[in-house]
Amino acid sequence: MDIWRMNRRQFAAVTTSSVAGGAFGLLSIGTAAERRPLAERPQASDHSLVTITGSPRERGRVYGRRFSVAIREFLDTQIYADFAKEKAKRDELLRYAGACLKPIRQLSTELIDELEGMAEGSGLRLEEHVLITLHEELWHRGDIPSVDHCTAVAVGPPATCDGHTYVGESWDWFAQLYGKSQMLLWKRADGPSVIGYSYPGLWTGAGMNSAGIALCWTSAFDKSIPGPAVGVPSYALISHLLYQPTLEAVEEEAKRARQAGWFTFVMADGKGRLLNIEGSPERMATEWGRVTMARVYYGTREMTRTPVGQPIECHPQCARMRELLEGAKGHIDLAAIKRFFADHETRWICKHFGSIDAMVFDTTARQAHVTRGPGCLAQWKSFSFEESGHPDKSEDTDKGVSPP
Ligand SMILES: [Zn+2]
Repeated sequence: MDIWRMNRRQFAAVTTSSVAGGAFGLLSIGTAAERRPLAERPQASDHSLVTITGSPRERGRVYGRRFSVAIREFLDTQIYADFAKEKAKRDELLRYAGACLKPIRQLSTELIDELEGMAEGSGLRLEEHVLITLHEELWHRGDIPSVDHCTAVAVGPPATCDGHTYVGESWDWFAQLYGKSQMLLWKRADGPSVIGYSYPGLWTGAGMNSAGIALCWTSAFDKSIPGPAVGVPSYALISHLLYQPTLEAVEEEAKRARQAGWFTFVMADGKGRLLNIEGSPERMATEWGRVTMARVYYGTREMTRTPVGQPIECHPQCARMRELLEGAKGHIDLAAIKRFFADHETRWICKHFGSIDAMVFDTTARQAHVTRGPGCLAQWKSFSFEESGHPDKSEDTDKGVSPP
């Protein structure tokens, strides 16, 4: 386990130096004036929806087979190249991923069936599939440079003027992953289906289920807590939470999970109830809310360790989103939230090249909206649970993939 002790020290060193300039010193973002013109962006086609059906194992198999090339590439370029150039380190990471199988199985045998199916379909090892779902935890170890992070928001009536409840986020991530996201309709017979915003091997990066529960999120960290732990990877937990029929079940399952890393999930249902779930390798906090919620890093009193009576410190990016929500209170609809994610008033919300995509889930109408590129590019596409299939006919002969 030497390598793990070493990496914890590395992690501590990185986070300590990163936060030297204050709690939010980690971010380094160009000002609005420095934004490169969007014309310089590489070309990427609009999002499409691929439907995956069948039993959990079949879903995994179909998904693994269909995206095998992209999944292998993601593993090679985003995990092995960044975190484990040498074989010894690679083996160590795979042992860590293998150890995480037990807590995943304790939480959900469905997830295990899906992961085993993916390995059968892709030809990768089961541990390699688990390792991909540990991407967020590996990032937190500080082995690769930090990137700007997402803004997550939930808003319902009476702040919305149409009575709908929305959950959305900008996906601020590694620029080289621009164009790699794929919308999936993950059709389950044994519970709610999920429309997921996915990356290869990360089949639910964020999303909404057919019961009207949506989840968006941002990174979080607490430099005082070492890790990651042997536990359920954040991305696996996101899938599991979106398989739940109610927010009560979501809260219960989150508390049951032994999570591996750090996160803050912003969730809501179609009835205007909001739920924030924040985790670290050591702790988990849940907080119910109504009307509006915005998060960039931790926001609960417990995870920010803010004494009662003191205001909770808010990242400037979160403060700007709260300002936008407050300014439009009572008049917020889908168009307004799309405008929030295109905000250039400060340097915080639309990061242009730093924002890969943006998404808004209408939990009341059960509609998913996602733009290819940053919010200001506004290349929005909408998807619903009634749709099935994908225009790419050449690959649709796969069992379990619905025809267009
Ligand atoms: Zn922009």
